[in-house]
Amino acid sequence: MKELVLSEIHLHYGSVHALHGISLEVERGSIVTLIGANGAGKTSTVNAIVGLRQVSSGQIAYRGKDITRSPAHEVNRMGISLVPEGRQLFPLLTVEENLLMGAYSSKDRHQVKQDLKKMYELFPVLGQRRTQLAQSMSGGEQQMLAIGRALMSRPDFLILDEPSLGLAPMIVREIFRIIEQIREDGATILLVEQNANLALATAEYGYVLEMGSIVMHQAARNLKSDPAIKEAYLGT
Ligand code: ATP
Repeated sequence: MKELVLSEIHLHYGSVHALHGISLEVERGSIVTLIGANGAGKTSTVNAIVGLRQVSSGQIAYRGKDITRSPAHEVNRMGISLVPEGRQLFPLLTVEENLLMGAYSSKDRHQVKQDLKKMYELFPVLGQRRTQLAQSMSGGEQQMLAIGRALMSRPDFLILDEPSLGLAPMIVREIFRIIEQIREDGATILLVEQNANLALATAEYGYVLEMGSIVMHQAARNLKSDPAIKEAYLGT
C-alpha cells in the first residue's frame, strides 16, 4: 500500500526553479531514502511534503488524501512528522521541555507522560539530561532530542532531513540503529541523506536527486552497486 505519493511536483523560490517535477512513492512500513548533493533539492522536497513550502504544481497524497495545499499543522495532525535539517531545537528550553513541544497538540496528559517515558527508554541519554538546556547538549544528543521531539506527536510517517549531518561516525551508526528501531515499531520512514552509504544500507528503496530532478530510483541494494552511484555518492 502506498503511504505517500508525490506526482510531478514543481517548486519555485521567486525566479529560482528548485524542483523540476519530482515523483516518488513510499510504501507503508518501509524506509525509503532520498539522496543527493548539496543544493539538489532535498530540503525543498521535504518542506513541500510537510506543508512548509507551497508547490507551484503537482500533487502530494498521503494515504490517498490530497495534502498538496494542507498547512503544516494539519499535515502533522494527519500523522506526518519532520526531523528538520539542523535539528531546530528550542535552545533555551530543557530536554524535557523540547520533548513536550513535540506533543503540543495532545490533550491527553497521561499519554504524554507515558510517551516521555518511552523516549527516555529509547534514548537513555535524554533521560539522564532531562533538565539540561538543549543548547548545552552535544551534536549527537541534540539529534536524538530532535528525533524524540518528532516522535512525541506519535507519527505514522517520519521524515528525517540529513540526520547524520556533522556527527561522528559512531554517533551516526547509533542514530541509524534508532531509525531502524522506529520502523520496527511500525512507522514508515523517508530518510533524506547526503551520507549515501549508510542510507542505502538502511533503506529498501532509494531515489537520487540531482539539480531538482530524480535521475534514478531503484532498490537500495541495486543503487549501492551501481557504478555511477558508487562514483558520485559512495566515494569509491
Ligand atoms: P542542502 O543539503 O545543502 O540543504 P538540498 O538538497 O536540501 O541541499 P535545497 O535546500 O532544497 O537543497 O535547495 C534546492 C535549491 O533551491 C538550491 O539551488 C537552493 O539554492 C535553492 N533554494 C533553497 N531555498 C531557497 C530560498 N529560500 N530562496 C531561494 N533559493 C532557495
